[in-house]
Amino acid sequence: MKFVSTRGGQSAALSEAICRGGAPGGGLYIPEKLPRLDPHDYATDLPLAGLAAQLLEPFFAQDSLAPDLPALCSEAFDFPVPLVIPDPARPALRALELFHGPTGAFKDFGTRFLMGALDRLADRDHPFTVLVATSGDTGGAAAQAAEGRKGVRLAVLYPRGRVSAFQEHQLTCWADPVRAFRVDGDFDACQALVKTAFNDEALTRQHRLTSANSINIVRLLPQMVYLAEAALKVWRTSGTIPGLIIPSGNLGHALAALYARTMGLPIGPVIVATNSNATLHEWNRTGIYRPRPSVATIANAMDIGAPSNFERLDHLEADERAISVERVDDAAIRSRIREDFARTGYVWCPHSAIAAEAWHRLPEAAREQRVWIAAATAHPYKFADIVEPLTGSKIAPSPALQAVLARPVRAQALTPDLPALAGVLGSRFSPSSPV
Ligand SMILES: *Cc1c(COP(=O)(O)O)cnc(C)c1O
Repeated sequence: MKFVSTRGGQSAALSEAICRGGAPGGGLYIPEKLPRLDPHDYATDLPLAGLAAQLLEPFFAQDSLAPDLPALCSEAFDFPVPLVIPDPARPALRALELFHGPTGAFKDFGTRFLMGALDRLADRDHPFTVLVATSGDTGGAAAQAAEGRKGVRLAVLYPRGRVSAFQEHQLTCWADPVRAFRVDGDFDACQALVKTAFNDEALTRQHRLTSANSINIVRLLPQMVYLAEAALKVWRTSGTIPGLIIPSGNLGHALAALYARTMGLPIGPVIVATNSNATLHEWNRTGIYRPRPSVATIANAMDIGAPSNFERLDHLEADERAISVERVDDAAIRSRIREDFARTGYVWCPHSAIAAEAWHRLPEAAREQRVWIAAATAHPYKFADIVEPLTGSKIAPSPALQAVLARPVRAQALTPDLPALAGVLGSRFSPSSPV
């Protein structure tokens, strides 16, 4: 398969698209043509990694990474993804729990797949240096995925004093080749610093700089897999086609849902659920796309005013990109968490609560007509400071998050300027001090 840029120009093989991240000229790589398969063609009773290999095989065809696909899948898809009924009185709503991986969010799938791919594509004498500016789930997931690898090293940049205690722990507890940098500045300063580094061609070449964010096509494609598995499960057992509700920020996850539907998987309506950030909601209502600065919400992994994957969404045919967008503000998130816990004991994280709220806002007939799968994107423990006061109940960490907490931490202070960053990248990632 070939990958083309949303802005035209030369096509690229998958490996090339992975190493580059973004396409030359500022576009994003997309599959030249999505493969189509009848849902009956997917083998039944495959473990998730097996379904992943079958679903992703056409995208890897003829690429140098093709022989590695089964191993990449078994590495990235090695934890369970339960499809549960949060409220027995409302069995039509299912929660797809994507948070049982090592860092407790769905980012674990895509970042592990990406790091595995980069590691295999790297020249061991000249590894990739992955830069991640993070205030949330991506940094921890990328760091866990990079630990112990030889073909990549990872620099995590996070804003000093702007992340929660657990988040900081999760960003700073990983061994070589991961280094965490506590930047004197806010998240925008971290992001601007990374951008400046990428714009420096000499520095980029010297360290083979690349990014772990969701513009990389190989972070996006694996996110189809568990949505496909859940949809096939519902379709096989009930004979009906489920709808999906996807909490969205940069639209990576939602785009995976649309790709999977276009490929012929049994997926019906797709609802993109956002927090107060209004860009997508406005576009859905008016057809006008007006990116803007983000606003801070309690579902902070989705605080995005200019979704980086919009260009890919816009590139789909009108029927392929048919979605509805539901916008949920902080007050509605809070009352959804409170109310559902009181009625059922089920605990949503703030992002997943947005999906649950979007389901509740559907007309009664639409709710009853089919099964709806809401993506539960993070473990509520990661957002205990927000959720516990609403439920009045302690959240226990999952075993994976408990293991994270047991690790020692280390981080290095960094001033937000390019010479400082170039300095630490040029050193052997000098020794770090405790956080
Ligand atoms: C990243 C993230 C999202 C949003 O995913 P996008 O692909 O950016 O739309 C939602 N919930 C959680 C918990 C996340 O970490």
